[in-house]
Amino acid sequence: LRNVGDLPVLPLPESFALTAAYNDDQFPNKVNLGQGVYRDNNCQPWVLPSVREAEETLHNQQVNHEYLPIAGDSKFLTKARQLLFGPQIASSAENISSLQTVAGTGANHLAALFCARNLCPKNVFISDPTWDNHHLIWEMAAPNVTQRLYPYYDPTTRGLNLDGMLAELESSAEDNDVVILHACAHNPTGIDPTREQWKKIAQVVRRKKLFVVFDCAYQGFASGNADADAWAIREFYSMLFTEELSSSSSSTPAGMFVCQSLSKNFGLYGERIGALHLIIPPWTSPEGAKAHLVQLVRAEISCPSLFGARIVHTVLDDAELCTKWQEDVRIMALRIKTVRALLKSELEKIGARGDWSHIEQQIGMFSFTGLSIAQVQELRERHHIYMLSNGRMSLSGLNETNVAYVAGAIRDVL
Ligand code: PMP
Repeated sequence: LRNVGDLPVLPLPESFALTAAYNDDQFPNKVNLGQGVYRDNNCQPWVLPSVREAEETLHNQQVNHEYLPIAGDSKFLTKARQLLFGPQIASSAENISSLQTVAGTGANHLAALFCARNLCPKNVFISDPTWDNHHLIWEMAAPNVTQRLYPYYDPTTRGLNLDGMLAELESSAEDNDVVILHACAHNPTGIDPTREQWKKIAQVVRRKKLFVVFDCAYQGFASGNADADAWAIREFYSMLFTEELSSSSSSTPAGMFVCQSLSKNFGLYGERIGALHLIIPPWTSPEGAKAHLVQLVRAEISCPSLFGARIVHTVLDDAELCTKWQEDVRIMALRIKTVRALLKSELEKIGARGDWSHIEQQIGMFSFTGLSIAQVQELRERHHIYMLSNGRMSLSGLNETNVAYVAGAIRDVL
């Protein structure tokens, strides 16, 4: 028996600790490149105009505050599924079960719990590197599943190590093992597979009968177009789970999860809205799996919360508002692309040592800069610039005003 009073203090997760340190910093030109949240060109939080409009609509509707069903708001889920899979797959697919979750994190957690209890894989394969919470979630929710890293980032090319990734899955994965894939805008590297590379990954997944957990936290952020950013998910769906595949096919994985976050693409970070979609082969029945997921939700949160679901549904259900939202997403993606180009050209202009083209080639909210732990620490201590120790920079903290300061500081620590 452990004395609760003797438990050791654990450190805060790095991104939260960084934000707290940044908030305490009194330096006037401090820069927060740590947290993965969108900021406008004045480094302020941005409520999407389409979301503002939906808020007003809801306010005028004088909505009530009743409990949702355990699986969540069905109107929200229909729209969330359409957004992810496209209207065609979403309307015809009976082999997709969807549940509302506590944002993308809740979806990842529910997926891990379900896999640990019902799929019982030996291993979960996680990209090296990845969003740090993947490790913690699987440690907490699936302690009996061994976490293994698959190669992803190649520091020499600053690109994807596809051969290493596929070789590791080929040689080490067993039937029903889980592999976590970032659907787009890989966090932290900003490097996504090309379409040809995705197809090769899907072939290995099928041959090895792996259970994919797609983590989709940045749909729309990568390219500015939500359909383009969901391409890999839709391609895996058609390559692995459509009727055309024979039901006798021995090489069909047991299923696939998609963890959908609406935090970033709707700017609804604190509202905690997301969904978990389970896809199973069309010749199997979804009822049992859905019931088990519902039971896990019941034990964890009883039923999900209303506000975010209402906002997302209100936006996506209104053609005009949906078009405005698409424009909002495009604006966010474009601003990030613009500051990528600005930072690169500024670094080149002032003669910062090295090749900075990767900053512009990477995609999504982050840049994996290649800066060392010591350099990151020096940026923080001497220049009040905050970013993750692995060299990940959240580009949303950059703007036209501070980019020269940041570039100068980088040159200084090199
Ligand atoms: N997955 C990845 C890869 C992420 O980067 C994030 C957010 N940082 C999430 C999931 C979860 O986001 P949220 O819980 O805020 O929706």
